[in-house]
Amino acid sequence: MAHRFCDYKKTSPQEIISNEYNEVIYEDKTDYLTLSFPVNGSDRSLDGEVIIDNSSYYNTTNGKLYFYNYSSYPNKIVLKMGNFRIFYEVPENFNRTNNLRLIVPPQEYERYQKYLLLSKKDIFKESSKDHWNHMPLTYTTNFSEYKDQKIKDGKELKIKYALERLQGAVPSISFVRILDETEADINFYGEIPSRIREAYRPEGHANTIGLALRNITGNIIYKATVYIPLPTEGEECPSSDIALHELLHTFGLGHSTDYKSVMWDTASCTNNEIVKEEKDFLEKIYLKP
Ligand SMILES: [Zn+2]
Repeated sequence: MAHRFCDYKKTSPQEIISNEYNEVIYEDKTDYLTLSFPVNGSDRSLDGEVIIDNSSYYNTTNGKLYFYNYSSYPNKIVLKMGNFRIFYEVPENFNRTNNLRLIVPPQEYERYQKYLLLSKKDIFKESSKDHWNHMPLTYTTNFSEYKDQKIKDGKELKIKYALERLQGAVPSISFVRILDETEADINFYGEIPSRIREAYRPEGHANTIGLALRNITGNIIYKATVYIPLPTEGEECPSSDIALHELLHTFGLGHSTDYKSVMWDTASCTNNEIVKEEKDFLEKIYLKP
C-alpha cells in the first residue's frame, strides 16, 4: 500500500470550502470506489447525504459510501447533513484510486457542531432559506466614536426606526436592546474600519454607504454586524433607509430590481419600501401558522 498526500487549494468560488484530500492508493483496483469523510485529527467519520456531481444522491453508512460504476469518477462532491453542506472539488489531475477520503477540516467540523447546536433551538426550522433561529433578536448600538451628540442621537434614531419599520412589516420579527456586544445577535456601528472597507469594497462603487456582515452556519444566521457610516459626500438620507437596507441584508435579503424597494442597490433617499416580495419572503420564514 502506498500513501500520497495531495494538497489542493482553490481561491474561488467561495462556496468551495474544503479541498483537503488524503489520497490512498491501493495496488489492486476494483470496480467500486469507497468514499469516506474523516474528521481531520480524529478517528471519526461523518455520515450524511452525498451529492455527486449535483445529481446523484447517496447516504454514507458507518462513515462510508461504496460508489459503484467507478468509470464515472466524481468531480464535485457535497456532504450534506441537514442544511449543513461541505463542498469538495476533485482536481482533474487527481489519481483514480479505490479509496477517496475527503477530509473534514477541524474548522468545518466546529462549524457543523455549532450548526447542530443552533438547529436544536431553531424555531423556524421548516424554512430551508437562510434564517435566524429565534426571536426576539438582541442588538447593541455603538456610536461612541462620534463626539457630536446630535450625530450620535441621529444614528440611534435611524436604528430605532429601521427596527420598528421591519417589526411593523412583519410583526413576528422583534428586537431587544442589550449592552453586551459579544452576546448580541446584531451589533450596529458607524464608520467601517479600513481593513473591513478594503476587504468588502463593492466593485465599481467608490463610496460604501453601509455594510452588513453575517455569520452563518448551514442555513442558520447567528451573528451580524452592521455599519452605517456618515456619508462622505452630499446629504445623509433623513430617514432610516440605509439602516433598514443593511438590516434586511442580515436577514438574507439581496438587492431588488424594484426602484421602490429599500433593497434597490442605489440609495436615493426615496426608494424606501419593504415591497410585497420582501415581506412575503420574511413572512414565509418567520410567521408561524
Ligand atoms: Zn445592499
